[in-house]
Amino acid sequence: MTTVYNFNAGPSALPKQVLERAQAELTNFNGTGMSVMELSHRSKEYEAVHQGAIDLLKELYNIPDQYKVLFLQGGASLQFSMIPLQFLKEGKIGNYILTGSWSEKALKEAKLLGETAIAATTKEGQYKTIPDASHLQFNENDAYVHLTSNNTIYGTQWSSFPDITHAPLIADMSSDILSRPINIEQFGLIYAGAQKNLGPSGVTVAIVREDLLDTNVDQVPTVLRYKTHADANSLYHTPPTFSIYMLQQVLTWVKEQGGVEAIQALNEEKAKLIYDAIDESNGFYKGHAEKDARSLMNITFNLPTEEDNKKFLAKAKELGFIGLNGHRSVGGCRASTYNAVPIEACLALRDLMDSYRKHN
Ligand code: PMP
Repeated sequence: MTTVYNFNAGPSALPKQVLERAQAELTNFNGTGMSVMELSHRSKEYEAVHQGAIDLLKELYNIPDQYKVLFLQGGASLQFSMIPLQFLKEGKIGNYILTGSWSEKALKEAKLLGETAIAATTKEGQYKTIPDASHLQFNENDAYVHLTSNNTIYGTQWSSFPDITHAPLIADMSSDILSRPINIEQFGLIYAGAQKNLGPSGVTVAIVREDLLDTNVDQVPTVLRYKTHADANSLYHTPPTFSIYMLQQVLTWVKEQGGVEAIQALNEEKAKLIYDAIDESNGFYKGHAEKDARSLMNITFNLPTEEDNKKFLAKAKELGFIGLNGHRSVGGCRASTYNAVPIEACLALRDLMDSYRKHN
């Protein structure tokens, strides 16, 4: 088989070593004579996987003791509803920073459930930028401030986070969790669907500050309360055991790579290869994001015309580059260079972009 370079936006590349390990123990997990998928979620063998994943995430991401790591279902999209359900009490405002389609979707769900506000938006500039932290509009009765740390579709990313003290800061980190060290204490709640940097789809990770767990708790259906899952260590109901097993394997791999700082250094190197190919193309490739807002995870660019985009994407596909098409809502090209995308794939894409430009 020819080499395939997987630049999918999510679900996306998984580390090859992780897939091989999962394959090796697929039918006989840890001497049990069965697959991890077939174990009871109450068995000691599964519990070791479950707790192992929680402990590894805490260790790798430096998560302080006053935070709980939760494994939830329903994707990041269910978090768009769970957050306002939990925190939007009467008289309180869910305040959203809009930096792309996913923040818009989060706001849309909150509007169904309570009062909302927009702390800032960069929509007028086609979401090419991240707002200036000094221009955010806050309200005294904000229940929380919500942001999207990395904008998967437009290819922008917060390089540092605003210090917010009047209300908890909530972040959708679906497309850049664990790609760089962060100060967890800046946040009340972080959530992310696993299917980009953490593993396969099926599990959503939430990191929540304990003092927020009791907010509004009586008015929320049991399975939609963060507290339910925190109290049961994410075993209130059957968790997506195979996804959590894969998450644990991916976290083990991150540790083997040298941890989150080493991953960040590699992510910077990978993204630079492709941004340099854009910047050194004399305008043949045009990046969507302003330079100071560029994402290290999703690199969005266009060729001179839509026709050129199509031709380039067709050529790339023919050569084994998968997933380079932009999101269907914006078109163009997008290379997603998540943690598990090897630098060899980025070098190959850089070479393709250079040679394609010279021949067209
Ligand atoms: N937020 C962001 C930033 C995303 O990139 C995505 C999915 N690509 C979502 C939310 C939605 O995630 P899910 O499909 O897990 O609901």
